[in-house]
Amino acid sequence: MSKPKYLAEMLADPADRRHGTVTGYSYGCRCRRCREARAAARRDARDAEDERYGQPAARKRRTQRWYESMAASGKASVCPICGRYTLRACGMHARCEKEK
Ligand SMILES: [Zn+2]
Ligand SMILES: [Zn+2]
Repeated sequence: MSKPKYLAEMLADPADRRHGTVTGYSYGCRCRRCREARAAARRDARDAEDERYGQPAARKRRTQRWYESMAASGKASVCPICGRYTLRACGMHARCEKEK
């Protein structure tokens, strides 16, 4: 029951149903279908974020001005560790929090 075993099974069988799924990708398969599944999942996650913040156009490039407008409405704040904007509710990047 290890990931390398699943991966070996998948690589041995191109018809394996785990191809084209995020699961397949997480097992380590990097075939086109698995990479696409992963990319689609990431797109979905971004769309959910857009819905949450109501800024569909902003995701392509989060400009300083966009962050400033988010900060003005209380949805972004300046991370005290690195001094950059963050959307996290705790006001600190996950990475910065760890290095605190
Ligand atoms: Zn695959
Ligand atoms: Zn930070």
